[in-house]
Amino acid sequence: MSSRRARRHIYAFGGGRTDGRADMKELLGGKGANLAEMSRLGLPVPPGFTISTEVCTHYYAHGRSYPPALRAQVKESLARVEQIVGRRFGDPKNPLLVSVRSGARASMPGMMDTILNLGLNDRTVQGLIEQSGNPRFAYDSYRRFVQMYGDVVLGLKPEHKDEEDPFEVALEEKKRTRGVTQDTELDADALRELVEEFKALVRMRRGVDFPEEPTEQLWGAIGAVFGSWMNQRAITYREIYRIPASWGTAVNVQAMVFGNLGDDCATGVAFTRDVSNGEPGLTGEYLPNAQGEDVVAGIRTPLQITRAAARAWAERNDMPEAERREARPSLEERMPTVYRELLRHAERLERHYRDVQDVEFTIERSRLWMLQTRVAKRTGIAAVRIAHDLAKEKRINRRTAVLRVEPEQLDQWLHPAFAPGGERTLLARGLGASPGAAVGSVVFSADAAIQAAAGGKRVLLVRIETSPEDIGGMKAAQGFLTARGGMTSHAAIVARQMGKPCVAGCGALVIDYARQQMSVTRSGGDPTTIAAGVPLSIDGATGEVFKGEVPLGAPPASRPEFGRFMAWADEARRLRVRANADRPEEARLARSLGAEGIGLCRTEHMFFEGDRIDAVREMLLADDLEGRERALAKILPMQRQDFVGILREMRGLPVTIRLLDPPLHEFLPHGDAELGELAKKLLVPVARLREKRDALHEANPMLGHRGCRLGITYPEIYRMQVEAIIQAACELARERVKVLPEIMIPLAGTAAELRILREDVEQTARAVMEQASVKVPFTVGTMIEVPRAAITAGEIAEVADFFSFGTNDLTQMALGLSRDDAGRFLPEYLRRGIFAEDPFVVIDQAGVGELMRQAVTAGRRKRRALKLGICGEHGGEPESVRFCHQLGLDYVSCSPYRVPIARLAAAQAALGT
Ligand code: PEP
Ligand code: MG
Repeated sequence: MSSRRARRHIYAFGGGRTDGRADMKELLGGKGANLAEMSRLGLPVPPGFTISTEVCTHYYAHGRSYPPALRAQVKESLARVEQIVGRRFGDPKNPLLVSVRSGARASMPGMMDTILNLGLNDRTVQGLIEQSGNPRFAYDSYRRFVQMYGDVVLGLKPEHKDEEDPFEVALEEKKRTRGVTQDTELDADALRELVEEFKALVRMRRGVDFPEEPTEQLWGAIGAVFGSWMNQRAITYREIYRIPASWGTAVNVQAMVFGNLGDDCATGVAFTRDVSNGEPGLTGEYLPNAQGEDVVAGIRTPLQITRAAARAWAERNDMPEAERREARPSLEERMPTVYRELLRHAERLERHYRDVQDVEFTIERSRLWMLQTRVAKRTGIAAVRIAHDLAKEKRINRRTAVLRVEPEQLDQWLHPAFAPGGERTLLARGLGASPGAAVGSVVFSADAAIQAAAGGKRVLLVRIETSPEDIGGMKAAQGFLTARGGMTSHAAIVARQMGKPCVAGCGALVIDYARQQMSVTRSGGDPTTIAAGVPLSIDGATGEVFKGEVPLGAPPASRPEFGRFMAWADEARRLRVRANADRPEEARLARSLGAEGIGLCRTEHMFFEGDRIDAVREMLLADDLEGRERALAKILPMQRQDFVGILREMRGLPVTIRLLDPPLHEFLPHGDAELGELAKKLLVPVARLREKRDALHEANPMLGHRGCRLGITYPEIYRMQVEAIIQAACELARERVKVLPEIMIPLAGTAAELRILREDVEQTARAVMEQASVKVPFTVGTMIEVPRAAITAGEIAEVADFFSFGTNDLTQMALGLSRDDAGRFLPEYLRRGIFAEDPFVVIDQAGVGELMRQAVTAGRRKRRALKLGICGEHGGEPESVRFCHQLGLDYVSCSPYRVPIARLAAAQAALGT
């Protein structure tokens, strides 16, 4: 370093010296740290250096300026690279060219800008011609550099999708005047002219000359990378993935290697296993005679790396093998020696990192260079399969395997694929880039996707290719379909990360944004035109695109590796996981997904079923107790059958049944027509019904006549329900079915309410058991969903065998935030960071969580064996599950499909992450 005292801002790699390591991601960003690690492992890495993220922090803290020592350090580091490669920066005879790339701590695919071939100008291009002996290549590199630099550093890149990139317009125009269709058909002369035209564009649009001086170019590029940390794309990405802005990005400056010097060159991306389904074996794509950006940008459809994958591709695309070998040879066939070396490095990296790697490589004149490695993003399906396989191969232990999968990723195992045997009409076929089935109406822009989704519509985003600005629309869509691009295109990467289905590179689509339609031609057939709004279905595993809405079927969770992986998670967890289920079929589903009981059976749902709603209404409208009891007697046998069904499904496991909770007027007919019909059925005048309905009206029903208040004022309702529960339990006990009903009283705020209701429950239960001459075990507990109940939990515990936190209501009441109306302003609160998370999704630990903590402590102090659970929606949200583990709850309860997610989250909480 130039000064002993100056802080180190730069870390070198390649060419025998490595300052960094894989575990220095905070300082070097992911890319820089891994380049350093590859270089330490002795893999072929072009030499370069990383400017640390601290410089980015400094840059923003000091009005976009650099630490004073940086300049000298860059100069010195560049000199080292010059020495290693034997070329000089700006040397007209033998110029060094570099790439400048961003690299944050967390990978942000395609979010930041990259500049290649930096160091070219009218003089050095002559040197490049000499070095390469290929004027066309040299001018092509120069043309790409001016374009990238103009877009990224000088800001000529279009702000909006509908605007055109002026460089692309000039390029198209050049091809037209030269009478060619491919970029590769433009000769050196045409490219040299283009360089001049590009520079003229810069002068015209920006009023400045394109910088000729390589050092000036370098500093411009460094500034642009740091500047891109705060561009809109990066900000949106960070918001979605919760990456703090304070992390900053590093800048990697690295000697260029060329994949586009001729037919003995190539560039590509490889994965050490299949990141879409997790199957073992190298996968990936490459492009002969191309630069790295061509693969990622999805402009040309790349070729497969392995022969097996190339053959599978040909089969999918109805291409005969002889033609395939000619037109689409795999890297394995085209460059067998390089392929074997790549395979060796890939295996080495996977062993070293003990995880699947995503590597970028370039082959320059048959020599392999490794440009990047990182832990590969993968689908939820692949995540489980890979964690499972790595553990089986003894690369990682089971604990690590369990920690390798994000709980939410399990969703992909549980959600349906297309139903087998269902009617479907194939429209086209592309690459299966991210598995799963998606159905939705076609939209052609991200904005349209956002709008339609906000209106509750399911949409498929269809684009020629996607780009980072589409991220918001991609989040809103069910899945993506693109005409261009491969497995590593933007659409494919984002889809796998979001866990959404994607079909990419569907070449049969001709998309016309202006007319909001696309046409699809199948070989031999007439084109089909599809307008925006038309429904389509895509299968992201097979790459198939179907007309219309294909029905969905069973999920892949029945595969043995899923069962084994979940068993490892179950071994690790302490928390029990139950399900919220109101019907026997839901109970069965929950049990098949691993539920260990029911934590919440909402009985009100049963009141609406079939014609029993009439009996319920009759009860509500009755003038006296006798009338109510008459109506309740009609409901009783139906309720009993409900409970028989659920208790039977859950035999041997506890079932918490909640007595009636919602405000009564919810059961009354609302419209006049409905009211009239009911009046006819019940043989009462409409006016009376209307009167009754109006009498039950409440200004604030959520704080009104609901929950245990109903039990206090209409004890016969709860009595009927308890009778039905205990009768059902007795019936099953006689059949020797083991039942464990837990009777739960909602919305209690005082011990006094519970004391009255508990006595009632016990009395009723005793009477039923005496009559049936059967004894069944049961417990009586309460929900904790009124803040007062949490605060006085000690008293409450005297009269409750269990607490179940109803965090939906507890959140509503603790925050004074209506569950039903908060949507009007909550988004603004989230956007402005007033709430870090939606409190109805993730437990507000400081507020609601604190009430829970108090209740747990006071409750257990009073009653050691008090059973504690949660049944609000939070019970299936990983962060909240972790919190419940820490609180020492006995179980969480959530909707059936979230049961596996909660099981894994509980395991990870127990493993201490
Ligand atoms: C709760 O309030 O958290 C709860 C589970 O009850 P409900 O959503 O039915 O009000
Ligand atoms: Mg509630």
